[in-house]
Amino acid sequence: MTTSYDIWLILLSLLALGSAILVAFRAGISSRQAHIDIGHIGYKDALTKLPNRHAFQYQLEAAAKRCTRAGNTIALAYIDLDHFKPINDNFGHHVGDIILISVARRLQAAVRGCDSVARLGGDEFVVLFEEIKSKEDITPIVERIISSFREPFLIDRHQIEMSCSIGIALYPYDGDIEKLMINADAAMYKAKEDGRNQFKFFDSEIESETDSLLEMQYDLLAAIENNQFSLAFQPKIDSKTRLLVGAEALIRWNHPTKGIIPPREFIPVAEHFGFINQINGWVIEEACRAICRAKIQGIDLSLSVNLSRQQFRNTFLVEDTVKWLNQYGVPTQNLTFEIKETAAIKNEAQFRLLLAKFKAANIKIALDDFGLHPFTLTYLQNLEVDELKLDRIFISKIDQDKASKALIDAVIRLAHALSLNVVAEGVETEAQRDLLTELGCNHLQGYLFSEPVSEDQLFMQFKQLEIHFEATGPSVVSDYQEA
Ligand code: C2E
Ligand code: CA
Ligand code: CA
Repeated sequence: MTTSYDIWLILLSLLALGSAILVAFRAGISSRQAHIDIGHIGYKDALTKLPNRHAFQYQLEAAAKRCTRAGNTIALAYIDLDHFKPINDNFGHHVGDIILISVARRLQAAVRGCDSVARLGGDEFVVLFEEIKSKEDITPIVERIISSFREPFLIDRHQIEMSCSIGIALYPYDGDIEKLMINADAAMYKAKEDGRNQFKFFDSEIESETDSLLEMQYDLLAAIENNQFSLAFQPKIDSKTRLLVGAEALIRWNHPTKGIIPPREFIPVAEHFGFINQINGWVIEEACRAICRAKIQGIDLSLSVNLSRQQFRNTFLVEDTVKWLNQYGVPTQNLTFEIKETAAIKNEAQFRLLLAKFKAANIKIALDDFGLHPFTLTYLQNLEVDELKLDRIFISKIDQDKASKALIDAVIRLAHALSLNVVAEGVETEAQRDLLTELGCNHLQGYLFSEPVSEDQLFMQFKQLEIHFEATGPSVVSDYQEA
């Protein structure tokens, strides 16, 4: 099922592509010459012999001029192969190349003589349709393209199934010529999102999704400028003593008109537009300030802070963190960075470099969302992290089937053998808490104990527990939550 998070990611990729295309397109126009020879080597894609991106830009511009003069319509179809990357990975680039050449032939066979096919790069192709009056004129051609993929590709004794997703935008109806490629691309992503192997025309719904992403970009800039962020803290509990051991700092955006916006909605946008270092820099410094404020009230607070994948490339991350730790008098052991398991895997080389730097600075790293994706246990052995954070989805199955319990048991044992601290997140039921405690999971976090709370509420929980512990022994955090 596609979640709203997936949709954001798709939209982000779409905007990235769109921006890149726009830049390339503008560059093409500015260096325009009166005439271009498509047969020229610089305008041909070396692999498929189709016109390349440059050639296509000229063709498009010329077609737009003809179209404006004659008062008719042109359409642009943006074609992206579905799941092409695994083919390269599984069968090798040689097979991938043959597929691209075959796709080029099939596309040329499916379109009319007056249409032009080009390869933009990778597994992306475009078709320019001229001499059309309406959507209906091109629908049968696009259907022919989709069905030309029904026949599997036979390469080196492999029978490879392939499909494509197509987005179409019309000029002049869907905007000016500069936006044509971006809009067709946006429609193509919608076709992917709706299940691939289909085509979609650009429409007002797609337009508003793209617009809302841009709006969030501007709003985020204002949020950074006007400091509209705050931190919420979700307590972590020691499974044996049930005492508070610290908290995870979770960012919140207090939008002036839309209210509180959760991080899942804006972090991917911030990452995409390159604001994440500024935002998370604020988070790290604010976490240090909170630990410092806690200390003034007699609380020894340990906090975990989430890091984004983009921050791996921030060469000042470790230096800045050390600077803030010193500035606010925070001992290094009071701060842990949580890094998503997927981010670590996708950027393993960068991740290892970062790990070494953190290790040298004595700062702890937790592998977040562990168990959400398939993993090999040996992988853990090779990563020098300090903590493993078992994902909520992983935990949610623990009291439902024996296999899940056995798997979590194995992971906890291995983690302990490697001297890692294990935290379970998203603990919602007493049954989950009891099983995790039985399996030796060190720390627990989840709605069963507390939702993320404000700094004042967190400090209050610490103080109440301390008072209660002195009087009656161990107790649970939820006893002290405000109604
Ligand atoms: P995460 O790091 O996996 O954080 C845990 C999320 O699960 C939090 O959502 C938390 O409120 C929620 N949660 C905690 N306990 C339970 C439970 O028992 N049941 C359920 N259903 N949910 C629970 P939140 O605060 O909306 O954060 C979502 C994600 O946003 C985080 O996932 C993290 O990836 C990201 N994020 C939050 N703060 C930051 C930040 O400062 N920087 C970066 N880069 N990412 C952040
Ligand atoms: Ca986290
Ligand atoms: Ca997590």
